[in-house]
Amino acid sequence: MKRALVIGSGFGGLSAAAFLARDGFSVTVLEKNEWVGGRARVLERDGYRFDMGPSWYWMPDQHDRWFEQFGVRREDFYAIHRVDPAYRVYYGDAVPGEARNVVDMPVDRSAARAVFERYESGSADALDGYLDDCRRKYEFAMRSFIYKNYYSVFDFVNGTALRNLPLLNILQSYGGRVRRRFRHPYLRRILEFPVVFLGGSPTGTPAMYTLMNHIDFNLGTWYPQGGFGAVVRAMQAVAEGQGAEFRFGHEVVGIDVEPGGSRRGTASGVRVRTPDGSESRMEADVVVANADYPHVEMSLLPEEYRSIGPKRWERAALAPAVLNFYLGFDRPLDEFAHHTFFFDADWETHFDAVYRNPRWIDDPLFYLHVPSKTDPDSAPKGHEAVFLLIPVAPGLADSPERRQVYLDHALTRMEQRTGRRLRDHLVFQESMSLSDFEEAYHAYRGNAFGLGQTLFQTAWFRAANRSRRVGNLYYAGQYTVPGTGTTMSMISGEVVADRIRRDGV
Ligand SMILES: Cc1cc2nc3c(=O)[nH]c(=O)nc-3n(C[C@H](O)[C@H](O)[C@H](O)COP(=O)(O)OP(=O)(O)OC[C@H]3O[C@@H](n4cnc5c(N)ncnc54)[C@H](O)[C@@H]3O)c2cc1C
Repeated sequence: MKRALVIGSGFGGLSAAAFLARDGFSVTVLEKNEWVGGRARVLERDGYRFDMGPSWYWMPDQHDRWFEQFGVRREDFYAIHRVDPAYRVYYGDAVPGEARNVVDMPVDRSAARAVFERYESGSADALDGYLDDCRRKYEFAMRSFIYKNYYSVFDFVNGTALRNLPLLNILQSYGGRVRRRFRHPYLRRILEFPVVFLGGSPTGTPAMYTLMNHIDFNLGTWYPQGGFGAVVRAMQAVAEGQGAEFRFGHEVVGIDVEPGGSRRGTASGVRVRTPDGSESRMEADVVVANADYPHVEMSLLPEEYRSIGPKRWERAALAPAVLNFYLGFDRPLDEFAHHTFFFDADWETHFDAVYRNPRWIDDPLFYLHVPSKTDPDSAPKGHEAVFLLIPVAPGLADSPERRQVYLDHALTRMEQRTGRRLRDHLVFQESMSLSDFEEAYHAYRGNAFGLGQTLFQTAWFRAANRSRRVGNLYYAGQYTVPGTGTTMSMISGEVVADRIRRDGV
């Protein structure tokens, strides 16, 4: 039986492990941390339970499809509920037709149309036409790009793509597409916020990705009962059911490469360190790296076998880092919905600070996840669990003092916008930011979401899922194809297993 070693137990690693085990490999997952799921980590303390990473469960059909391929049903592991309203948004000024500066985006389409129409006359009909175009983009992407391996540029630039050029809007940006159809700045924000999931800005993300609005409005935002921890535990159970073995607290400290000439080689195994400091070697026929791509290339591989070196990583359009707070309040907070945005600060300044001129800014946009609205088990009775996320530029210096300043700023804005005193009810607080991401995941420049989804980091142009120099070294996860986010990382594991099968490893 051939032996596959998977480095890392994030969504990509879990998925690759399950598929490789199904395909007959003897699979061992080596995970440096003690928890499964990588960035989908869970914090449980004092009766609170927080998803420390992902909180938006999108594309539920693709998750169901994943489980079905192993002859099991997702619902036998965890239930999902559609979140309604999908989200709440706080603005700086009053919303037209509302006494308050807050609006909910309902799931019901006619109610959502009414929200749009209140901002801008004619925008409800524009929304229908726009979402129809987004749906066609989504269907095209799922058919032609997402579940695909790229062996040459012609797998991307080909007859199918050329025939669909008008649909792809190749020369337009996401923001350009939205702004052509909607004038009101608040509507634009509602339609543009999903770019954050793609690790990009509205102007730096291709128009093709407006398919995200189809995912948001038509497919919906869901909540997995028990949080994302339940999702990764289910994937682990499926992988184990296929025969994969998991070793936690096992950090890979090097990949051994046997030379094959012309700076090409074959991975013969990996070196592993356990918490007691001891090192051992494990042999492999194939290695799938789910750990952060720059870490694997620059820290685990001998220099001559890197496909992507430090200069290219420096030039890469990285997705944002985050400053996260996990907050417990000792009273119910009706002011917040399950997902709540604070878009009450300057939109352009924030994107500029994350992507163009990296810096800490006084008034960032931020987002709250309040799982206790849907899942009472995530907080003590009568309490609320609140996860506050601020996207920031990767590579910034982070310190406990700065974190406290940002928490104070955010609480002040939350109090101003809601008109409620919140500080007196704050009874639990934890934080996570760049330095923690570096330490926990070897995250390059402390980033949270891997590579941004720019045109030149899409499909064939994205960091490839097979090393150019080490024949049997493959990649899965948010840096490689098809892209960033939990669902794409999950799909990356399926796609890479397919490639390994075709390569006849
Ligand atoms: C705060 C935050 C919020 C997010 N929100 C959402 C959301 O709402 N919806 C969504 O879909 N996505 C969201 N994402 C993105 C999503 O979580 C990621 O895209 C996805 O989880 C990445 O999975 P991955 O397979 O790339 O692996 P990762 O989760 O990055 O896991 C890689 C694993 O490799 C391990 N590792 C690293 N180095 C080594 C080594 N040397 N040896 C052994 N193991 C190693 C790490 O410990 C880690 O477990 C969010 C991410 C963050 C951080």
